[in-house]
Amino acid sequence: MARPGHEGAASIWHAMPVDDVLASLQSGPEGLDGAQAAQRLKTYGPNRLPLAAGKPAWRRFLLQFHNSLIYLLLVGAAVSLALGHGVDAAVIVLVVVVNAVTGFIQEGRAQQAMESIRRLIAPHATVLRDGGRMVCDAADLVPGDIVLLEPGDRVTADLRLLRSRGLMVDEAILTGESVNASKQVAVSMVDAPLGDRDGMAFSGTLVVAGMGAGVVVATGARTEIGRISTLMHEVEVISTPLLRQVDRFSRVFGVAVLVCAVLLFVFAVGVRGYGALDALMAVVSLAVAVVPEGLLAVMTITLAIGVQRMARRQAIVRRLPAVETLGATSIICSDKTGTLTRNEMTAQRVVMADACWQASGQGYAPQGELLAQAGGADVEQAGALLRCGLLCNDAGLHQDEGGAWSVRGDTMEGALLALAAKGGLDAGLERLAWPRLDEIPFDARYAYMATLHGDAAGSGVRLLCLKGAPEKVLGRCATQRTAGGETPLDRAYWDGQIAALAEQGQRVLGFAMRELGPEDALSLNPDELAADFVLLGVIGFIDPPRDEALAAVRDCRSAGIEVKMITGDHAATALAIARQLGLRDQPEVLGAAELDRISDADLPDAAQRTTVFARATPEHKLRIVRALQARGAVVAMTGDGVNDAPALKQADVGVAMGGKGTEAAKEASEIVLADDNFASIVAAVKEGRTVYDNLTKVISWTLPTNGGEVMVVILALMMGWVLPMSTAQILWINLATTVTLGLVLAFEPAEPGVMARRPRPAGQPLLSGFLLWRVGFVSFLFMIGALGIFLFLQARGAPLEVARTAVVNVIVVMEVAYLFSVRYLHMRSFNWQGIKGTPAVALALVVVTAGQLLLTYAPAMQRWFQTAALSPGQVVAVLAVGLALFTLLELEKAVARRWLGEVV
Ligand code: ADP
Ligand code: MG
Repeated sequence: MARPGHEGAASIWHAMPVDDVLASLQSGPEGLDGAQAAQRLKTYGPNRLPLAAGKPAWRRFLLQFHNSLIYLLLVGAAVSLALGHGVDAAVIVLVVVVNAVTGFIQEGRAQQAMESIRRLIAPHATVLRDGGRMVCDAADLVPGDIVLLEPGDRVTADLRLLRSRGLMVDEAILTGESVNASKQVAVSMVDAPLGDRDGMAFSGTLVVAGMGAGVVVATGARTEIGRISTLMHEVEVISTPLLRQVDRFSRVFGVAVLVCAVLLFVFAVGVRGYGALDALMAVVSLAVAVVPEGLLAVMTITLAIGVQRMARRQAIVRRLPAVETLGATSIICSDKTGTLTRNEMTAQRVVMADACWQASGQGYAPQGELLAQAGGADVEQAGALLRCGLLCNDAGLHQDEGGAWSVRGDTMEGALLALAAKGGLDAGLERLAWPRLDEIPFDARYAYMATLHGDAAGSGVRLLCLKGAPEKVLGRCATQRTAGGETPLDRAYWDGQIAALAEQGQRVLGFAMRELGPEDALSLNPDELAADFVLLGVIGFIDPPRDEALAAVRDCRSAGIEVKMITGDHAATALAIARQLGLRDQPEVLGAAELDRISDADLPDAAQRTTVFARATPEHKLRIVRALQARGAVVAMTGDGVNDAPALKQADVGVAMGGKGTEAAKEASEIVLADDNFASIVAAVKEGRTVYDNLTKVISWTLPTNGGEVMVVILALMMGWVLPMSTAQILWINLATTVTLGLVLAFEPAEPGVMARRPRPAGQPLLSGFLLWRVGFVSFLFMIGALGIFLFLQARGAPLEVARTAVVNVIVVMEVAYLFSVRYLHMRSFNWQGIKGTPAVALALVVVTAGQLLLTYAPAMQRWFQTAALSPGQVVAVLAVGLALFTLLELEKAVARRWLGEVV
């Protein structure tokens, strides 16, 4: 096989005639077969750009130490060593290293989890293989494959175009040219620059309009984009605004702590008369106490777990900050067809000017009959209408081994095929008798589709078939078909029929035809399509709401989230479905014409009132999002087409359809729905709220722990007491509990009431009033508990080691008690589920208990950490403090619920 361009020389495909290209690639207009493609995939390798080498592992590991608080700890270790506290120094270093290792491992695991989820939405391509069209992973494309292009597709390999119908491509990524390039099949000059190679579509560029097909000439690193940059896909850092906020906070905090430490040192030496060395040790303890070592790692994991849970619920997160935004979503704007409804169309009602039929049968099976409703008309009479539906149609029906019928292509068109069969027409024969000559593909902007057919018998007669939104079709008709011939269009009759169908929630399509003699001139251009069609009739399709959508809408209503439907469909149809779904008690509807009339200034009010936007275009979507956001709403918006991208970008959470969505829509979105299902958006919102809750829980659990320790150290220094804990002991507490108890909170399931409260206001600070009070209050209680038991035991003559060991145990027990309290922010924790906990809680408790027993009773640990065994009586005292704290916290929550209403 000749392989021009594959040897690294400049490619000349654009300068070769199409037939030569196909010949030299040993391919043809019908594409490769599966075996050939598999063989070539072995030869050429997957169609993927080599990944940029990420940061090497050792650098990622070292970066774990790059944190002012860690520096502080290391200084502490050096000081300890200089003062002869070798064990303390070793423990500090150990803690820092363990912290870095866990951070490193967790970061890697979180990254891996994200990558594997990301792979779920890897780009796809539509190819001709084995003589039929199919969708494959873009990575599986090989030279010689025939790729079909539609608006919104990302071109995934370098293609020599074989066909182009108004194909327009955005090549900015390659040429920097912001004007879309128009593509033809023609040959270009050998030395034409990339931007002028009109017969080529290059990998990485985006199809913005028209249709086309091309043969793959280069894949992977051999594509033009592969040559200029083999390094794509920088690995994304796992971060969100919230995480960055916490990170920034902890860095600023570190500096503040340093300053305080110096002041405290001066105070301790100057005022309290501590020896300089003792004071230095105390200050190091303070620094150690204040550092929330594992906080950021635990938060990152919480986020990653949330993303995995969302993926399990069919919502794939493309941009991490969306996880947080989702939880604050207050309005969801959703498509109708396929998202709120099942997209299982059945053509039910066939209406002509003087007759009407009801179709029997189930699903897409081409079995059933047309039962005449009024007048007992013969089915033959519907022949032209059914033929129009057959010809103006790109779908195919397919029966699997189990006998079930499904549609390849548009579901409404599939339903038309089934309907035609019920009316006695054979799709195969009709399509042979009337081969398609030309077409205007369906476009939501003009809401119709037209096809031109020639007579295979050679009479020279041509049929122009039109199908689309009924008002568009009616607008192009002057006459109507009746049993007796053509009569003038009875507009009132049709409006009545269409309204009657739409009010039952049926989707209505209109059908019209024009017969052209051999001499008749014709321009198949959407702007010039003449208005002299003969109306054949209208057909009503049922598309029932999804059962899950009904439940999801109910969830939204209890969660204070408004659901708005934005659809290209007829107002009455959309309103009927909105009622069936219970979007609102009295849904209001706005049509395209009214939308166009309302000024941007008035739109916010109107948009807020409206539940259903009918015959809406992508441009309307953008205006609606902006209007809703102007009133402070956090808006999630669904979309699938290339023209939806601006609205998806504008929305706080853009939601693209994974199934029917274009690559352009997916790239503009934060979330991709694997199943195109409205219920999945709501599931993602619920997970988003849970993640936010859990992040809050992680923070509000971690801070008081450190806060309590700090208060203890500061108070002791101020009062001139012996420190109730050694530096090493403080580190033990922080290390032993953050990676066990703290991590538990990352796995917390959703609280029972998550979807019963109103959305969190956008921009609400994480440490809001109640939490701030919580952190202060609990820190204070921790201090009382720790100092209390310390002074109590010392007063009763216990040695310092024993008193300190009791303090360490009391703090850990209080952390456990506080953990149970924090797990339910919004309700009391005295319920069976709360006590029982999750497996993660049980595991953490076992590990922590074992750790404390070792620390207290194992001789080696006693030597390193200067601890001593506690008597049973002392153990009981320690546990009693924990129980007291838990009771106090529950009382406080009850009071807050009672007097403050909903907390947090
Ligand atoms: P939706 O918001 O329900 O998905 P669309 O934007 O897909 O609506 O379609 C808008 C209107 O365009 C439909 O109500 C229908 O009248 C018309 N339409 C949709 N698909 C086709 C098609 N394949 N051929 C002709 N007309 C269509
Ligand atoms: Mg649609």
